[in-house]
Amino acid sequence: MAFTSSRRRLAALAAVLGLSLIVGGVAYAAASPAIQTVTPVSANHMGNIDVLRQQIRNYYGDPLGSGVFASDSNYAKEASSVAAAGTSYLAAKRHDLSWWITGGPKAIVLDVDDTTLATWNYEVFSNWAYNPTTNATYVNGELFPAVPGMVQMVTQASKEGYAIFWVTGRPPSQASATLGNLTTANVTGGISAGYPAPTDPDGSGPDTGLYTKPSAVADYPAYLTTACASDPGGKCSTIHYKSATRAHIESLGYDIVASFGDQYSDLIGGYADRTFKLPNPNYYLP
Ligand SMILES: [Mg+2]
Repeated sequence: MAFTSSRRRLAALAAVLGLSLIVGGVAYAAASPAIQTVTPVSANHMGNIDVLRQQIRNYYGDPLGSGVFASDSNYAKEASSVAAAGTSYLAAKRHDLSWWITGGPKAIVLDVDDTTLATWNYEVFSNWAYNPTTNATYVNGELFPAVPGMVQMVTQASKEGYAIFWVTGRPPSQASATLGNLTTANVTGGISAGYPAPTDPDGSGPDTGLYTKPSAVADYPAYLTTACASDPGGKCSTIHYKSATRAHIESLGYDIVASFGDQYSDLIGGYADRTFKLPNPNYYLP
């Protein structure tokens, strides 16, 4: 899972708990959960969490929880089908008149965790409970394999002339390890997922095509400071961080033709002609 992801989970929860509402001079805590869903009337109306974990292991083709998903699992098939749909769409878009008329280079935007790198091994290791220390071991060890089908999709898109950008909630301190895991591992024992390098968006170096989220508001680039000014403490929500970063990429002249993510919060907020949702039953990030 997603490291940042859990960080995001905690941030969202803290933001919610920190809210208060003053009505008629009386302060009421306006606490509400970060995930809005139904209230089952009966225990029979929802899954048992241990059974659900086993169903997820089965879905990943890893019924005994080894941490290695199977290449013929339903997870691999579903992820591959999304990647294939992306490949078809991007190939077709190249023949659109708009490719030639609207001007500006075309781009795709990708999330990292469970969109391009699969964190199944960490979900199993942690029993679906994020811990920043153990998680950093996986991130900095560059231990995540590629999401099935996605290397082929991104490689083909790159050959067709699309600029390739990653926008992740991982912090800048993990940028080097993230780039190594995505492309060519730069630590002993690390996995080289085999993606093409990100595009250098503005001539300041290829690593800048991998956008990370600064941990401190003080470290935000101006486009995030502005876009997230109304978020609690000025800290970007996931949706605002991702959409403002896509807006920034488009401000550089790129047209984002497609955006790929495993969370709806990766995808909503505009600045992409079409979105593609990768499967992820392991966690939910509002
Ligand atoms: Mg993700």
